[in-house]
Amino acid sequence: MTTGLPKTDKKNPRFHFDIYTILEGAQELYFGHETQVNVNLVETIKMYGKDGQALEKCYLSPTKRRGIERRCLLWSPVSNGELLGDKQKCGIPKTCADPKCPICSTYGALDPGSKTLIGRVSHGGGVAVQDIYPIEKQRAMHPAMIVNQKEETPQPYKRQYNQPGILYPVYNHALSLTDNEFAAVAYAFLDSLPRIGAGNPKGIAIAESDEVPLLVLDRYLVPQKKRPIISPAIVDPQAAIAEFKRLGNFEDNDGNYIQENHFERWIGNLALTKLQEYSTSFVDAVLQA
Ligand SMILES: [Zn+2]
Repeated sequence: MTTGLPKTDKKNPRFHFDIYTILEGAQELYFGHETQVNVNLVETIKMYGKDGQALEKCYLSPTKRRGIERRCLLWSPVSNGELLGDKQKCGIPKTCADPKCPICSTYGALDPGSKTLIGRVSHGGGVAVQDIYPIEKQRAMHPAMIVNQKEETPQPYKRQYNQPGILYPVYNHALSLTDNEFAAVAYAFLDSLPRIGAGNPKGIAIAESDEVPLLVLDRYLVPQKKRPIISPAIVDPQAAIAEFKRLGNFEDNDGNYIQENHFERWIGNLALTKLQEYSTSFVDAVLQA
C-alpha cells in the first residue's frame, strides 16, 4: 500500500521538522475533560516522581492542541473573502482528503469508504512542570443553558481551572514535509497559541528566559543533537528551563544556529523568526495568492 502522496521534485525536497517549546499559561485556563456532579473538570495526569512520590499534574493534551491548530487553518482568512476550510470544502468531521489541501496533506484526513490521508504532524508533551492542582471556581449559568432551561431556575455550576504561570513543555513533529507544507504547520502552531483553552479565557505564551523565547526548531534528514524534551518527573520550573536550554544548545552554539550533516537547528529568537518566515510564506502562497 502506498502513502497516496504525490511525488515531489528536486526543487521541493522533503525534510523532517521538530518544534520544541515551553508554553506558559498567562492566566487561568480551562481544558474541558469531563463533568462530575455539576463540576467541569480539567484534564490531569497521575504519575510518580523520580523519588516515588505521587504527582497529579495539569495536562495540555496534545490531541486538543492538534485540534486547535487544525481549526486555525480551517478558519484562516483567504483573500477572496472565504475561510480556507470553506474554500477547500474541508471541515470537521468531513475533511476533504485532497492531497493538495494544505490542511489534510499535513494534519491528515479520513473520507470514509473513499480515501485516507495519514497525518504527518504529530503532537507531544503537555504534562505541566509544576505540581499545582487545578482550582475549582463557582460560575454563573452559561447563557445558552439559561435559554434552554426556560422557566426552570438556572443552576450555577463549578469549573476547574489550570492555574496561571504553569509551564507546559510541548513538541510538534512533522514527518517528510516540503518547506511549503511545513509552512502551514508553522502558521498553525503560532496562530493557535492565543486560541488555546476551551471557552474563556483563552491563550498561552511561549515562555522566555533572560528575554529569549524557549523555542527550538529542527529541520533535518538525520536526527542529530539531543532533543530538548523535559522529563515529566521534573517539578521545579527553574530546573525544567535549565534542562531545556542545555538540551536545546542555548549556550553552546554560534549565533543561535547549528548546522551539521543533514541537520539544522534554530534556537531562541532565531527559531521564532524562522517560524514567522514560514508562516508568512504560507499566508503569501496559500491565503493571499
Ligand atoms: Zn482538506
